[in-house]
Amino acid sequence: MSRILIIEDEENLARFVELELKHDGYETDVELDGRTGLEAALNQDFDVILLDLMLPELNGIEVARRVREVKDTPIIIMTARDSVIDRVSGLDHGADDYIVKPFAIEELLARVRALLRRINIEGGANGGHQTTVNYKDLTIEKENRVVRRGDEVINLTKREYELLLILMENINVVMSRKELLSKVWGYDAKVETNVVDVYVRYLRNKIDRPGEKSYIQTVRGTGYVIRS
Ligand code: CA
Repeated sequence: MSRILIIEDEENLARFVELELKHDGYETDVELDGRTGLEAALNQDFDVILLDLMLPELNGIEVARRVREVKDTPIIIMTARDSVIDRVSGLDHGADDYIVKPFAIEELLARVRALLRRINIEGGANGGHQTTVNYKDLTIEKENRVVRRGDEVINLTKREYELLLILMENINVVMSRKELLSKVWGYDAKVETNVVDVYVRYLRNKIDRPGEKSYIQTVRGTGYVIRS
């Protein structure tokens, strides 16, 4: 059973979210200020932390930052202020996702599920013995997340890396945009699928050599594939 910590000073909202999470089968703990929230986060093991930003005692950014110093519990920020600065600084301090208040509870539950699924996938990957994935002169060292083409190290963002890894672990399998979206971004639907096309373009710019055929092939109307 997954355990979720809710750090939120609006008690009604906290209780409502708790009730919904319990209804979905999660174990929950609610803390109503930043300081006790941080203590709970540090002293117990949670699978996900839902973190409000405007909190008494200690603000959410500070809570995220201090949690991150010692552990990598996934954090979803719940922010009332739809301000880019809040979100960016939250994500800079180690939050994994954010949701803007007021939100539909279904949306929050979907985010939690997506995050847990992504962690399970990553956990499963680390448990495997194969730590290197190869395609022609491309190599991915999974343990330290290093990508090379020949001797040259290629710097990829987290999403680019995950996208490439999935394609390379599924040589000759056409991956649809939908599948890639759900595996890399963790979302079931509703995200514009052209985000996949945009990231494939970023990835090609980094891994391909000018004038050569791209390693990643487009399958018209479907998705992408790397063919042996
Ligand atoms: Ca608040």
